[in-house]
Amino acid sequence: MTRRVLAAFLLAVTLVASCGTLTGAPPDRAQPGGAASGGRTPCDGVGDDFPGDVKLARCLTEWFWSRRFQESGETYRPITRFVAYRGSGGPDCGGQPAVPENAFYCPYGHFIAYDAAWLEAMYDRMGDGAVYVVIPHELGHAVQAQLVEDFRFNVERELQADCYAGASLSGLIRVGALSAEQGDEEELLTNIRAAGDPTDVWWAPDAHGSPELRQQYFAHGYNEGVGTC
Ligand SMILES: [Zn+2]
Repeated sequence: MTRRVLAAFLLAVTLVASCGTLTGAPPDRAQPGGAASGGRTPCDGVGDDFPGDVKLARCLTEWFWSRRFQESGETYRPITRFVAYRGSGGPDCGGQPAVPENAFYCPYGHFIAYDAAWLEAMYDRMGDGAVYVVIPHELGHAVQAQLVEDFRFNVERELQADCYAGASLSGLIRVGALSAEQGDEEELLTNIRAAGDPTDVWWAPDAHGSPELRQQYFAHGYNEGVGTC
């Protein structure tokens, strides 16, 4: 663990007291099929390396949403593509080129793309919580697209996607589809904080919310569930 990561880690722990606190244990070394608690999922593989975690985070999160939609008498529409790219070699979205060091949901074609080198670097630096924050967040946008929700500001859309990400993770843990290890809680909060905007220009069209707000919405979804997002 480098000093920089340690600093971010301590910052996250400090903020937990005043901001969002996770009341359950989040995922790590995910084991689909939930050997411990018997949760059955259609997802194969075990998340014990970067490609495994990426695949599992997508599969489990979509499984969570398909069940959630089903409970409401609706049908979840899975994303059509899950594209790994490197640097500036990503797919464009409605004429907008993909940018390096990013992950995004594209409503034109209903797909998700991510810079694999960037995500893997975060995974190596900050733990697998990186994958379990970024992918459920982007899938949160795929869900929003199906619910046809309207937002006045982009930041509202982003914070709801954070809330959805927290809610889908805790939902998966509750049914035993994901298991958790000690230290994961801080890891998730560190990752969500690190993704906050450097300045609080919340009305900007690309605003995602301050580190504190992002952490708060993620924790809210995690603790209170999808219905409160
Ligand atoms: Zn987003």
